[in-house]
Parts: sequence; structure tokens; C-alpha cells
Amino acid sequence: TDSAAARGVAILGATGSIGTSTLDVIARHPSHYRATALSACRDVDGMEALCRRFQPDLAAMADAGAAAALHARLADLDGVDVLSGEAGLVAAASMSGADTVVAGIVGAAGLAPCLAAVEAGKRVLVANKEALVVAGDLIMSAARRSGARLLPIDSEHNAIFQCLPPQAATLDDAGVERLVLTASGGPFRDRDPATLASVTVEEACAHPNWSMGRKISVDSATMMNKGLELIEACRFFGASAGQVDVLVHPQSLVHALVQYRDGSTLAQMGNPDMRTPIANALAWPERIAAGVKPLDLLAAGRLDFSAPDGGRFPCLALARAALDAGHGATAALNGANEVAVGAFLNGELRFDRIAGVIEETLSAMDGEPENRLEALIDHEQLARREATASLKRWSH
Ligand code: NAD
Ligand code: MG
Repeated sequence: TDSAAARGVAILGATGSIGTSTLDVIARHPSHYRATALSACRDVDGMEALCRRFQPDLAAMADAGAAAALHARLADLDGVDVLSGEAGLVAAASMSGADTVVAGIVGAAGLAPCLAAVEAGKRVLVANKEALVVAGDLIMSAARRSGARLLPIDSEHNAIFQCLPPQAATLDDAGVERLVLTASGGPFRDRDPATLASVTVEEACAHPNWSMGRKISVDSATMMNKGLELIEACRFFGASAGQVDVLVHPQSLVHALVQYRDGSTLAQMGNPDMRTPIANALAWPERIAAGVKPLDLLAAGRLDFSAPDGGRFPCLALARAALDAGHGATAALNGANEVAVGAFLNGELRFDRIAGVIEETLSAMDGEPENRLEALIDHEQLARREATASLKRWSH
């Protein structure tokens, strides 16, 4: 292998589900890609193992204590710089040894490093949808200024990306009328809504088709994930809210569709495995092997589609309403959702009360913040405090 010619890749959120899938793809192509930076929050064991295996130049831990522990553990390993805190994540995101950055942190905690990668002009593979929900327009305009190329790896958005012509400046120029995101419906698509009060963390995290981190698994179970993705699609592709539809498709084989004005609809299909969109974005415009089994439509047998059930999944309507209301509301939606999902995962909030906390938070927020980074982050923080107060009312 000729690692001198390999492209450096900084992986933010390396110990997570997206990070692990990315490292799996990279490990299949050692002469083309090298993980030059890895980051995580506080999983010292996970990071130590990854550092020993991938020998990055830089390892960043968001948690300072974890960074110190990692530094001690790696004393025998030459050439790995260990950094800590948000400054460490930002250093990894903008390091000169990486031309590609994978934004794989979960939550708005990933916003600053994602933006740093964009401002440094990197090729940025975006999984971290919360960053786009909180500050999508700012990220997109920063990319236009720096020349950074943004490539979506959320599977639906990567599917849309693959169905769009490479050079079109706007959807209208490309002749696109509608974007359609598919949703599996999650683990509770057919569950009696009356029983949603007793859902356990384990049940909510047991997704029928995808294996993912806990937060996005809960988001999939409430369908807030599709709500966040609706906002992500509008920000990423410059679509209007009314131009994006959601279709429930339980097999998760068609990831998204793009409808053109001439009556053509293009779809991207594949087995539900994040290594496909990751490999697509890593190698774009080339194609590399991802270790994913080819789609077998004969074995699948059928593809089903239905409209989402708004009564069962109120989070979808909350996200649509926030999208209509503007940037402040989408930032607040994200903050409230992170607080509510965190409380559910800690056993402090019933599953069927997640939507109530978010709704109450959104109606308590007033004033539209300026569409500037600090103002949006402040607004999101305010929503987190409102949501925490609301939680107390819903917890019993
Ligand atoms: P995960 O929980 O498996 O991993 C999260 C990673 O982020 C870990 O490496 C963790 O150490 C790091 N992290 C967590 N909190 C942090 C903090 N405060 N500061 C710094 N780092 C922190 O999550 P995931 O499933 O890999 O999801 C990551 C992102 O990708 C999310 O935004 C999710 O919505 C998106 N996404 C994931 C999938 C998937 O299949 N897992 C699919 C589409 C989109
Ligand atoms: Mg998705």
C-alpha cells in the first residue's frame, strides 16, 4: 500500500455508529484513505482501541478527563497527539493532514466542529443532521464562501444527492419539482398507540432495519428523525418546505426519490447499510466497494408505501410547523428534542411524552433570533432550559 498517496480523513464521532461504519470502509481501501484524526466524547476504551488500530496523527476527546486518560494510555504509542474539549474537536476538523472530514458527532455538540471543517474548506461528509437543523443556512453559506464541498451521508439525503444532476445550481434549474424522503416507520409503526406509554429504552432502540446510535434510534421511533431530515433536506438542497414529502416504506430499500417536471421519478435503492452512502460520499464522483451486499429485489419480493400516521407520530407535524416558523423554531425544536430524548433514555420521561415536552417548549419560546451562529446557539440553549422546566411537569 502507498499511504503517501492516501487521502487524510478526520472522523468526528469515531467511536459511534457512523464513525465505525466509516472506519470499516476506510479499512477496505488503505491505499486510498487514511484516518488522520479521530474524535470521541468520553469513551476512552473505544478510542484507545481505534488509535492502536488506525494510528491517527491526532486524537481528540470532548471530555477533558477522558483526554487525560487517553493520553496516559497511549504513552507507548508514538506520533498521536491527544487534544481535548471543543478546541480539540475543532483542531481535528480543520487539521492540514485531512482533506476530508466526517461530521459524525450526535447532536448540536457537533455544530462547531462541523462549521470549522466547512470554514477550513474541507470536503465535509455530513451525518450530523442536528448541525444542519440548528444552523443549516449558515453552514451552506460558509461552504459557498470557503469552497468546501458538502456531501450528505444521511441515507435519504445521500440518495437525493445521487438522483440529482451533479452541476445544477438550484432544484428549479435541474427541473426538480419534489423530493420524497422514505421512512421505515420505526419499531412502533404497527404498535397499538395506547401501549406507547410503557415503551422501554430497549424497545425504542431496537430498530427493525438499521443499527444506529441510541439518540437517532429514539428519534426514529418517534419519527422526529424524519422531521429533522425534512429540515435537513430543505437546508441542504434549498428546497421549500412544501416541496418535500415523507412516505412510509417499511422495507427501507428505496431511500429517497426525486421527481422531475417531465414526469420522471428517480430513486436510489440499496440494502439499509450506512456504508453505502459513506462510501459514495468518500469516493465521489468515483465508486468504491463498501462491503455491502447487493440489493436482491427477488428476495425482497415487494415494496410497500403508505402515508405517515400523524396521530401516532405527532413529532413529524411539530417539525413541519417549526420549519414553517423559521430558523429560531427549528433550533428550538432541536434543543427541546435533545433534552426530551435524553430524559427518556435516562428513564426520566415516558416515551409518549417526548412530543408533549417539545410542543410545550416551542409554544413557550418567543422572539425570532437573528440568523447568526451565536444567536441561534443561544436560542437553542434557551429552548433546552424551557424543555428542562417542561420535563418536570411531564415526568410524573
Ligand atoms: P452514536 O451515538 O453511535 O455516536 C456518536 C458519536 O459522537 C460518538 O463517537 C460519541 O463519542 C460522539 N459524541 C457524543 N456526544 C459528543 C459530544 N458532546 N462532543 C463530542 N463528541 C460527542 O451516534 P450515530 O448513530 O453514529 O449518529 C451520529 C450522527 O449521525 C447523528 O447526528 C445521527 O443523526 C446521524 N446519522 C446516523 C445514522 C446511523 O446509521 N447511525 C444515520 C444517519 C444519520
Ligand atoms: Mg436518515
